[in-house]
Amino acid sequence: MTQHTDKHITIIGAGLAGALLATLLAQRGWEVDVHEMRGDPRLLGYERGRSINLALAERGRNALRQAGADDAVMAQAVMMRGRMVHFRDGRTDLQRYGRDDSEVIWSVHRGELNQVLLDIAEAAGARLHFNQRLVGADFDTRTARFADDASGGAVTEMAFRTLVGADGAGSALRKAMSASTDLGERSKFLNHAYKELEIPPASDGGFLIEPNALHIWPRGRYMCIALPNDESTFTVTLFLPNEADLENDVPGFDTVQTGADARALFDRQFPDASRLIPHLERDFDTNPTGVLGTLYLEHWHLDERAVLLGDAAHAMVPFHGQGMNCAFEDCVALARHLERSPDRAEAFSAFQRERLPNARAIQHMALENYLEMRDRVDDDDYLLQRALELR
Ligand code: FAD
Repeated sequence: MTQHTDKHITIIGAGLAGALLATLLAQRGWEVDVHEMRGDPRLLGYERGRSINLALAERGRNALRQAGADDAVMAQAVMMRGRMVHFRDGRTDLQRYGRDDSEVIWSVHRGELNQVLLDIAEAAGARLHFNQRLVGADFDTRTARFADDASGGAVTEMAFRTLVGADGAGSALRKAMSASTDLGERSKFLNHAYKELEIPPASDGGFLIEPNALHIWPRGRYMCIALPNDESTFTVTLFLPNEADLENDVPGFDTVQTGADARALFDRQFPDASRLIPHLERDFDTNPTGVLGTLYLEHWHLDERAVLLGDAAHAMVPFHGQGMNCAFEDCVALARHLERSPDRAEAFSAFQRERLPNARAIQHMALENYLEMRDRVDDDDYLLQRALELR
């Protein structure tokens, strides 16, 4: 098996955190191998999965700047000055995030962002291995096993000194670490889920509604939001409870099961949005329904042999739009601690000490917004206010 240098590190997952961390470490002279289960999205196009676009805030941009990735990312970002609230009666109201355009957030396309970050990671010297799904790790022999799903699942073994888990909420590395040590893992799922739909461009190629805003249709215990994409589309996300509350006229994914059901709901509750989504039935029937949950871990690392970051360490509900921003901050912190301390176990402890309380605080805030929104269903003004604070 390959012999690695003292500054070698193996990252699992070339998603948002994996690609950014690979860049930051390669730029600091680390020898970085990244193993990603999917094919190269730059060749295959981005696989439609979850959350097509994301709100990028200053926390995330600051991390991108440190990797020299901010300009390339911002070239495709759409500014969101504030929330455009769509009331039941069709009125709209733009509520700015700050005094002027120095206080805004940005809508970025997950696929484009990932591709930019992969290019930058490769340019910095990181080696990217696609179709390499981590299926197991032996921490005694320091051997990781990867399956190549593109060629029938052939499994190869690879030696490692340290594995970094940037493999998302369902992290296979976390699972492997849990077999060796108790990470104190706890997950809490919400009884809400989400579905993505699309508003296409206008016939002249422009945006159909105000592009520089995050659109919200708050309706108490459920809602819809829309974020702009640079190709003049909007990604709409419908959040609904899993179970309807018919007494209080609250729909759920158990009553809204088909595209036709969804169209009827939109016509009734979001008529202005319904008119903008010609392929609502198709989108609803084809796109997966996403679950929402929070992952808590007491321990993010296994001495110097493995460490987790991003969603693999602290997945959260999206009601503050901070999961990616928080994952990017993790990358900067981990790269800094690895530079500071030659002892990797010490670096990982310091990383966890710095980042775990921050992640917990953001998870809590994201959940609080959800809980308050869910529980205060009798107060329309209050509900509206809370929904506005979601982003
Ligand atoms: P991921 O982006 O999930 O990347 C994990 C990578 O690992 C993927 O490429 C995957 O293919 C790969 N992988 C998985 N398993 C393996 C394996 N076994 N072997 C090898 N590779 C593997 N955050 C924001 O900041 N702003 C927002 O507006 C926002 N909106 C959101 C809306 C929704 C509906 C959801 C669900 C999330 C939202 N988030 C948002 C959160 C954000 O999506 C995540 O926090 C972010 O993607 C975490 O990045 P990550 O790199 O840790 O994980």
